[in-house]
Amino acid sequence: MNRDDFPILQERVYNCPLVYLDNAATAQKPKQVLDALQYAYTHFNANIHRGVHHLSQVATQHHEESRQAVADFLRARSSNEIVFTKGTTNALNMLAQSYGEAFVREGDEIVVTTMEHHSNIVPWQLLCHRKGAVLKVIPLNDNLTLDMQAFSAILSQKTKIVSVAHVSNVLGIINPIEDIIRIAHERGIPVCIDAAQSAPHLPIDVQHLDCDFLALSAHKIYGPTGLGVLYGKEEWLNQLPPAEGGGEMIEHVSFEKTTYNTLPYKFEAGTPDFIGSFAFAEALHYLQDTGWEKIVEHERELGKYAERRLASLPDVEIYAQGAAKAGVISFNVRGVHPYDVGVLLDRQGIAVRTGHHCAEPLINHLGIPGTIRASFGLYNDEGDIDRLLVALERAIGMLK
Ligand code: PMP
Repeated sequence: MNRDDFPILQERVYNCPLVYLDNAATAQKPKQVLDALQYAYTHFNANIHRGVHHLSQVATQHHEESRQAVADFLRARSSNEIVFTKGTTNALNMLAQSYGEAFVREGDEIVVTTMEHHSNIVPWQLLCHRKGAVLKVIPLNDNLTLDMQAFSAILSQKTKIVSVAHVSNVLGIINPIEDIIRIAHERGIPVCIDAAQSAPHLPIDVQHLDCDFLALSAHKIYGPTGLGVLYGKEEWLNQLPPAEGGGEMIEHVSFEKTTYNTLPYKFEAGTPDFIGSFAFAEALHYLQDTGWEKIVEHERELGKYAERRLASLPDVEIYAQGAAKAGVISFNVRGVHPYDVGVLLDRQGIAVRTGHHCAEPLINHLGIPGTIRASFGLYNDEGDIDRLLVALERAIGMLK
């Protein structure tokens, strides 16, 4: 992996070289993506779809090529299935709003898991409040994996959708989404995958998975911030009403009656982030050029190395130790608040995240105030883990 592609990794923090281990929150951008942003603003900044003039046509073409790049990245059947959003949160809110409007009635049930990020809980809760529906939660086994027997038992005629994280942003656990999708489909229930934490680390094939919806954020996949994707099978998206109204999502508007645009524009009200989509396509090309096999292998080995090194410290407790993980390790130092450790690591140039990581139900389940989370990108290496360990031992020495 070429660290030199990521200029920010040269930064110093408190006069220490930066060790960036907060990739689950957002990933750094290669210079190809930074250059693409500059290039787009410099050469074809013009609003898309509505203009006859040259720049507008160039911008439109790039935006639609980027949509195709996302469709290819997810192995979607068609770029009509790719809706650009502001991020995963926005995508899940749009889905809950739109799917809920069409398909959820009083007494119906929505299924999520104990380890969801708030953005895969609260939009469904809002829907439940609106419709008088009920949120059901898949519990965890003692080893923090999903209790799949309980999952099967939770499903009923009332279940209208299952929405689950592919990879937990707190534990890094890779959930058995193939089984979840198969079991839900056997009962005719659609499944939405929150791929915010998996898309940066694992190749995704929506046709193979057969998921009905999927959400992701560009900024976690080395792309620009403020952009995301809602994937939906065309047959589902065609049945859903628009989540937002405005320009672009319409076919004709009158005060008596408005008709809607075709897919995917029906779900893209207003000016989309056509500069961001161009840069995102660069990020996807960057991943493709690097190669999934290499990325997956590198990050798996790095994760194992980090877990082994952390486990060698007697005061450290690792959550979901030994489970199949992608990109994330959460741990605590016994008897010490995670925030205190985080501050002392920061002072040594190590960027980790501490707290509930927007997954309070999971943190409450663990009965702890939060965790220290180290999360990796493709540019991290064993040297970063070694520096984390040195800094952590120093912090423990000061705190205990
Ligand atoms: N789901 C998961 C699993 C996440 O980790 C995150 C980001 N931490 C989100 C959803 C929300 O993503 P965004 O803030 O980019 O909308």
